Amino acid sequence: MRNDDHEHQDIRDAVRALCAQFPSEYFREIDEARGYPEAFVDALTKAGWLAALIPQDYGGSGLGLTEASVIMEEINRCGGNSGACHGQMYNMGTLLRNGSEAQKRAYLPKIASGELRLQSMGVTEPTTGTDTTSLKTTAVRKGDRYVVNGQKVWISRIQHSDLMILLARTTPQSEAKKRSDGLSIFLVDLRDAIGHGLTVQPIRNMVNHETNELFFDNLEVPAENLIGEEGRGFRYILDGLNAERALIAAECIGDGYWFIDKVTRYARERIVFGRPIGQNQGVQFPIAKAYVDVEAASLMRYKACALYDAHQPCGAEANMAKLLAADASWAAANACLQFHGGYGFATEYDVERKFRETRLYQVAPISTNLILAYVAEHLLGLPRSY
Ligand SMILES: Cc1cc2nc3c(=O)[nH]c(=O)nc-3n(C[C@H](O)[C@H](O)[C@H](O)COP(=O)(O)OP(=O)(O)OC[C@H]3O[C@@H](n4cnc5c(N)ncnc54)[C@H](O)[C@@H]3O)c2cc1C
Repeated sequence: MRNDDHEHQDIRDAVRALCAQFPSEYFREIDEARGYPEAFVDALTKAGWLAALIPQDYGGSGLGLTEASVIMEEINRCGGNSGACHGQMYNMGTLLRNGSEAQKRAYLPKIASGELRLQSMGVTEPTTGTDTTSLKTTAVRKGDRYVVNGQKVWISRIQHSDLMILLARTTPQSEAKKRSDGLSIFLVDLRDAIGHGLTVQPIRNMVNHETNELFFDNLEVPAENLIGEEGRGFRYILDGLNAERALIAAECIGDGYWFIDKVTRYARERIVFGRPIGQNQGVQFPIAKAYVDVEAASLMRYKACALYDAHQPCGAEANMAKLLAADASWAAANACLQFHGGYGFATEYDVERKFRETRLYQVAPISTNLILAYVAEHLLGLPRSY
């Protein structure tokens, strides 16, 4: 008998009950219309789930990363896509860890209640990609403001955010001691910025993932919106990545279980050659292997979250969890599509939608190759390859 994960069953039950109000048809229609699951995100916000990581002092529920990961897992396991709102859960981490008390008091309670959405983070640029420290967007101090010029790409959920975390260069790389010095983080109020120095160009893409090109043309950002110290922004972003990796891993784990549940049900019911297709070992084995991989990825996710919650270093575990989970969900997705035969391609089965959604995590927010490069260099002591 399958011994499914019962960690934090109370959270699982509550999130499942909320998700049950939003059946597959809801997500299918949103996907077909390239819409935004506003009602779903509202319901999650009102129930407090997206404020899980905000301390109670600032209006959140003060849960750990473990519990937060269970929330994200359950959303994806129920057939939804946390990608529409995961930024609201973790983008505020940069502000929480590095912001001033005044900034935290001003923004965190409103983010917790959903009055403000901080769903966007602008890091990636078209000409530099994964090579983040080479990014070219500049922020130059002029009196009580910074003037921002440059370009970003793939910046998600701008249309459903009030605020965006922006990484820009404040000291030219040639003048910085280290490549990673001289970058700074700003909190950009999108309501003021769009049309006043910031232009947004949506990118239609394979997934229904709201994402955009951004063009900065002398955008003025008040100096008080600098987060932490000028020049230390890259470090601040890195500090937040472990939580993001663990949460994305959890989403992939949720996807993995969804695919496995869906395909095992189908393989039991679908009769070809006078017997269920699931009786053939050629069908059983890829599904069983994907299940093993999802379970293993889940354990690494728990290890990463436990270390994070204990304030221990968890870069290795968070990265490995993300890689294992993304690979496991992709293997589960392939098995699910394959054994649905032609029906897997019909939108009404939801398989092709989830297949597209989970494929993203081989590339974003960090590609599998870059995780392997991290493991090779930082865990195995091999020479840096780039
Ligand atoms: C739908 C979507 C939403 C996104 N949302 C956001 C967002 O909200 N904010 C944001 O800042 N970014 C966002 N991104 C960007 C995402 O993080 C990047 O696409 C990702 O980091 C890869 O960067 P790139 O696309 O420039 O690929 P590149 O850096 O050009 O790399 C391309 C491929 O080359 C390989 N590669 C590159 N360098 C190496 C190397 N040294 N060794 C081995 N292989 C290598 C990798 O396989 C990689 O996939 C999003 C992307 C997508 C598709």
